[in-house]
Amino acid sequence: MHEQLTLRSAKFKVQYICVMAVPPFQRARNRGYYGLDKATEGEWNGPFSFIQGADIQFGMIAKFVPEEAKRGWQKEIELTRTAVAAVNKMKPRPRFFIVCGDLVHAFPGTKNREEQEKDFKKEFKDLDSEIPLVCVCGNHDIGNTPTRQTVANYVDKFGDDYFSFWVGGVKFIVLNSQFYEDPSQVMELKEKQDQWLDEQLAEDSKCKHMVIFQHTPWFLKNPEEKHLKNLNMENDLRLRMLEKFRNAGVRAIFCGHYHRNGGGFYGNMEEVITCAMGYTKAQSGLRVVRVYENTIKHGMDDIPETLCLSEAST
Ligand SMILES: [Zn+2]
Repeated sequence: MHEQLTLRSAKFKVQYICVMAVPPFQRARNRGYYGLDKATEGEWNGPFSFIQGADIQFGMIAKFVPEEAKRGWQKEIELTRTAVAAVNKMKPRPRFFIVCGDLVHAFPGTKNREEQEKDFKKEFKDLDSEIPLVCVCGNHDIGNTPTRQTVANYVDKFGDDYFSFWVGGVKFIVLNSQFYEDPSQVMELKEKQDQWLDEQLAEDSKCKHMVIFQHTPWFLKNPEEKHLKNLNMENDLRLRMLEKFRNAGVRAIFCGHYHRNGGGFYGNMEEVITCAMGYTKAQSGLRVVRVYENTIKHGMDDIPETLCLSEAST
């Protein structure tokens, strides 16, 4: 008995040291996320929550709000601090915090880019170490027309641009949506993602739900709406992909980019667009997502200190 306990605590120590050895922005690697794999997270253990934010976009507010023009991205820093402090207080802890793209406003290689990246990382380091931060790349992060170099730089600084991970029996797939928006300079990277995605969707993974995260949405309100350049996806591609996701049993797709709430349904598959954490003409904020055995509920209310996860509260 004593030996077993010693062995268990030794194993725990090794795991702990390994996790600490992987810096927060290096955990999305090899198309997975360190510590959130099927072997450790493949089983359903009851309802849980996660937090989704998007478009904190360090540097955008100063460009659009005259009284903030001289403050750099101080407003985004303050908004991040408020968000991180609120999430850190949550009980039970959300299982992860995902930022669905446009981490910073300055496009690759432009003025202030490196400083904005540095401050983004600095502020999110205050997130409780037991709440993994998951980053998704947006058009501002890799450019409207990504290149091999801008994608490689993003991967170097924030981790893989597309990958999958598991939490409590649910499979989550993170996509690089810019490969659908404009792959003209990165066709082979786009094709690799396509192939990888098909494998992910085809895998007989016995997950409780399958959920997708990406930056740019497929549609803003209605799957049949017309194509609006740089806002939603081109119609043929959109319908082909939505059909593919629905056939694979995807439950929901969470996006950002729109800087206001939006989304709708394709059959019974929901697309959820979450308003910006940063600049918006609406109310900025975070989405609290509650995952139940048979459904997923979400809302943009204030972050509660105590989250009720009983099925009755749905
Ligand atoms: Zn965007």
